[in-house]
Amino acid sequence: MASYTLEGSTGTWEIVCGLEVHAQVTSKSKLFSGASAEYGALPNSQVSLVDAAMPGMLPVINQECVAQAVRTGLGLNAQINLWSRFDRKNYFYADLPQGYQISQFAHPIIGEGVVEVVLADGSTKKIGITRLHLEQDAGKSLHDQDPSRSFIDLNRSGVALMEIVSEPDIRSPEEAGAYLTKLRQIVRYLGTCDGNMDEGSMRADVNVSVRKAGEGFRTRCEIKNVNSIRFVMLAVEAEAKRQIAIWEDGGEVVQETRLFDVSKMETRSMRSKEDAHDYRYFPDPDLLPLVITQAWVDELKTHLPELPDAKTARFQSQYGLSPYDARILVMEQITADFFEKLAAGRDAKKAANFIMGDFFAALNKNGWTIESSPITIDQIIDLLDLQDKQVINGRIAKEVWEANIAAYAETAPEDWASVSFSPSKYVDEKGLRQVLDTGAIDAAVDAVLAANADKVEAYKGGQEKLFGFFVGQVMKAMAGKGNPALVNEALKQKLA
Ligand code: ADP
Ligand code: MG
Repeated sequence: MASYTLEGSTGTWEIVCGLEVHAQVTSKSKLFSGASAEYGALPNSQVSLVDAAMPGMLPVINQECVAQAVRTGLGLNAQINLWSRFDRKNYFYADLPQGYQISQFAHPIIGEGVVEVVLADGSTKKIGITRLHLEQDAGKSLHDQDPSRSFIDLNRSGVALMEIVSEPDIRSPEEAGAYLTKLRQIVRYLGTCDGNMDEGSMRADVNVSVRKAGEGFRTRCEIKNVNSIRFVMLAVEAEAKRQIAIWEDGGEVVQETRLFDVSKMETRSMRSKEDAHDYRYFPDPDLLPLVITQAWVDELKTHLPELPDAKTARFQSQYGLSPYDARILVMEQITADFFEKLAAGRDAKKAANFIMGDFFAALNKNGWTIESSPITIDQIIDLLDLQDKQVINGRIAKEVWEANIAAYAETAPEDWASVSFSPSKYVDEKGLRQVLDTGAIDAAVDAVLAANADKVEAYKGGQEKLFGFFVGQVMKAMAGKGNPALVNEALKQKLA
């Protein structure tokens, strides 16, 4: 694959990038307390005494959060550490009532792993995982509720996060996007994080440096809290260009934390290394080391769902799909399941084409998602089977499909339950069965040829393009219901 480079006045530069992704663990309650971890509740309605850091409260580890971290580690092909430890990361901030965050510093629960991404040109690339550790989220300061005061919402305080750190293996905005996309896909399949970047369930700190070919790493900057995949890609590019300009101007990039300003498409300094916190990490004395057994890890492993890479490979071998089609259908678990239901006992390629073509187009056009779409899989099955059993031709199938979509699109969503569209019934009611009767087809062909004697002459004189015209006329005469193969055959015979 051609590698991605940026051109400066002094020649070609390469990007070096590593991501630290914070992924909120899917669990009912928080990492060390029984308070609900659900998103969107009224401020401070989900705060236990532990989360509010009342004196004398003790954290108790939530085993489900540990299981989720292990599942994620397994999904990242990573080392699972049977012994890990929680440390206190000390800092003062209004939204952190404890005055420290419980995290894992020296001994994370998950060690090195690897994620493989596929790029637009079809090439693959392995991105190393350095580690994954569990930690608490902080609360949230609200500065926009009152002109003179800030408020604190501690609902998030203590919610479990997984911080997933990559190796500096990423070399382009595209690779950064592909890596984050893949990570999100894996945790969503696993059910360990919902991947909702809009709600902050997943956000990335983006580390970027630039270098000339063959050099070691140069100084990096870290862009904090980027909350969409597209913004990560844009931030990588903007930051790399900024650094190239500095180096080429004879300056030096200083290590610092920056923010990405989407409206200006540039990164902006937040704090320099001089202000860097000394977190004074030390083992949390309230918690024992986290010890898990290999037997438990194995048990969790046997219950993992089929993951995207395995499913993509299986879709190719079992259904004969191209790698590209397999990847598209596997992108979301729900799409993959939908495809498999549709493909069962049918032509899998046709099922795949229908989903990626007509079905996705209908979703796009109507602003539906596969979850919210009112079209049922039974309707699609019915439609494909009608076509497969030669009851209708492709042209009529389009018409039936349009009617199916319209039945919902023209109905308010709250009334969708009352819509009972059946492709089979529609075909019967409207008399749309295709005509296979060769007698009827011959008659239509004869009539068309008789009415277009001049064109028949021209065709026989060498204007072969006219064949399409005859097909169109015959189909028109048969109200679109002729069997295309039989119509073609009859025309060829009679024009010979
Ligand atoms: P820290 O502990 O200060 O956060 P790490 O070594 O853990 O630093 O790295 C944090 C992130 O920065 C990782 O994702 C890593 O891949 C990335 N990184 C490290 N060095 C560089 C570099 N020179 N350029 C770009 N990214 C880097
Ligand atoms: Mg770090």
